[in-house]
Amino acid sequence: MRKKIVAGNWKMNNTLQEGITLAKDLNAILANETPNCDVVICTPFIHLASVASLVDSAKIGVGAQDCADKASGAYTGETSAAMVASTGAKYVILGHSERRSYYGETSETLKDKVKLALENKLTPIFCIGEVLEEREANKQNEVVKAQISEALFDLSPEDFSKLVLAYEPVWAIGTGKTASSEQAQEIHKYIRSVVADKFGKEVADNCSILYGGSCKASNAKELFANPDVDGGLIGGASLKAEDFKGVIDGFKA
Ligand code: PEP
Repeated sequence: MRKKIVAGNWKMNNTLQEGITLAKDLNAILANETPNCDVVICTPFIHLASVASLVDSAKIGVGAQDCADKASGAYTGETSAAMVASTGAKYVILGHSERRSYYGETSETLKDKVKLALENKLTPIFCIGEVLEEREANKQNEVVKAQISEALFDLSPEDFSKLVLAYEPVWAIGTGKTASSEQAQEIHKYIRSVVADKFGKEVADNCSILYGGSCKASNAKELFANPDVDGGLIGGASLKAEDFKGVIDGFKA
């Protein structure tokens, strides 16, 4: 069965000291809990090694928010997948809409990033999602299909199975607007059908597809109750341990 996952995306928030405090708070709040899902926190690069060494790795996985599209060399300011993996991190968010829109990330560069992440045994959390005008024009299905096919269809079914997908309607990220539970289920089901058509039903059935976009404690349970929503990628509500715990509790019976 596919994994249920709640992954936090801290984005560019928290100094190193604040990040360590937040990771410690999360560790403490989960100490006597057995979450019904995998829990991941994706921190800035600067925090990775410290956070990976302090969290209870049986309960909390650590990930980066990006990695370079090159393996190593003269690429000032970049951080490679191998460097990310060397911190103890196990995940990397790739193709987040903020990277696509503010830093010109394309499907071509994402292809290389995915390949390098997989070579370094990182699990990519690969983000897809439409902007508001595309949703208003009812183009969301063709947008997500293009994002998946352009960056991921060169993978073998075996490699594709190592990825997690995150559907994040851009109009819902950080805006307080959430896709309705019905909208989320409808497009997650469609995304799974795109994966099935290319890689087969078994790969599609085992693929975790997370929802992201203003997901929080108050709406997580309803969103996660959908059969094709396998968890969440959480921005704002991952920045306080209690808030993030509230989202994780969305999987409680
Ligand atoms: C995100 O950045 O991936 C995200 C979903 O952010 P927020 O939860 O703040 O909308």
